[in-house]
Amino acid sequence: MPEKSAEPPGEVPRNLWNDWRWQIRNRITTAAELERYITPDEHERAAFSRGVRFSLTPHYARLLSGEGSVLRRLVIPTDCELACSEGEESDPLHEEIYRPTPCIIHRYPEKALLLATNFCSAKCRYCTRSRLVSEDFDSTVDDKTFFEAIEYLRRTPEIKDVLISGGDPLTLPDEKIEWLLDALSEIRHIEFMRIGTKTPVVLPQRFTKSLIKILKKHRPLWLSLHFIHPLELSKETIKAVNDLADAGIPMGSQTVLLKGVNDDPGILRKLFTELIKNRVRPYYLYQCDPIPGSAHFRTPIETGLNIMRYLLGRTTGYAIPQFVVDTSGGGKVPLLPDYTVKQNGDYIDLQGFNGAVTHYPILK
Ligand SMILES: *Cc1c(COP(=O)(O)O)cnc(C)c1O
Repeated sequence: MPEKSAEPPGEVPRNLWNDWRWQIRNRITTAAELERYITPDEHERAAFSRGVRFSLTPHYARLLSGEGSVLRRLVIPTDCELACSEGEESDPLHEEIYRPTPCIIHRYPEKALLLATNFCSAKCRYCTRSRLVSEDFDSTVDDKTFFEAIEYLRRTPEIKDVLISGGDPLTLPDEKIEWLLDALSEIRHIEFMRIGTKTPVVLPQRFTKSLIKILKKHRPLWLSLHFIHPLELSKETIKAVNDLADAGIPMGSQTVLLKGVNDDPGILRKLFTELIKNRVRPYYLYQCDPIPGSAHFRTPIETGLNIMRYLLGRTTGYAIPQFVVDTSGGGKVPLLPDYTVKQNGDYIDLQGFNGAVTHYPILK
């Protein structure tokens, strides 16, 4: 696959295009701006005329033409979103009851999620935290709320793992990111930190030398990236993740299974293989959460299980994420195809990837 480069349109000087703040300031939020990149279809226009808000970076908009039009579903609303189906909720994981302070979600005993900003440079149509995401670049968390969050983490020693999320934390200025990582690093019981971000995909210009230096200085810090489709691996994105890998920053990737976008074993195999080639380890494959207007995105559970069955044993183990359904009561629940053919007290019959059944004796 020759990766696409998101070249600036003719009238935009390259030095502006390569400036992440310019990319944020020039986000595409109206039909007229979008038309400089693609021609909206009737379903997209129907959503615009109903006032559905959207936002994407010029970089991402450049990926949407030609074969990249499959990526439109990720950031451009359609009238499908206007229909709310049974069981859909704006807080599908019931996270609001796990918020001891405004920017912490503490759902698992040892792990806390820190909402470092409400802002994202692109608004994903299936985002599980859509209810929190704001279009306003300056809508960042105020210092008092940050201090409260740090104070909560400091006085809660069972928390070993802090996931910095939002919004997208890497849209914050360097100084704020450094301040936050410094503050967390000083808390003795925190063993592990990660940043959840789609920035390498939607805003690869963000990975300046100075940001990478800040990330590199803090250990152990992992990045949890968010990839949906192999066509998101533009030249600029590949450079960003390789600069991060060269700086020694470990990276995982989370993917949401989306109908008509990536619910295909061949597409996901391609995505996961390209990721490991670029030193990013596929981490989770998510069943899409039932946010309002998401029915057109959601696949049957079988689809995810069949994809896992296709991948397991066929492709490199490192290129296989865990398939999970996030639940409102019990957090992430992993699902695997059932490989047990028969079981009794003496043996278990297991079917391998190639169909062969093995009779395995159970010791008593
Ligand atoms: C997913 C998630 C985490 C991290 O879980 P891992 O399985 O360790 O990746 C932490 N907090 C919340 C609220 C989450 O949704």
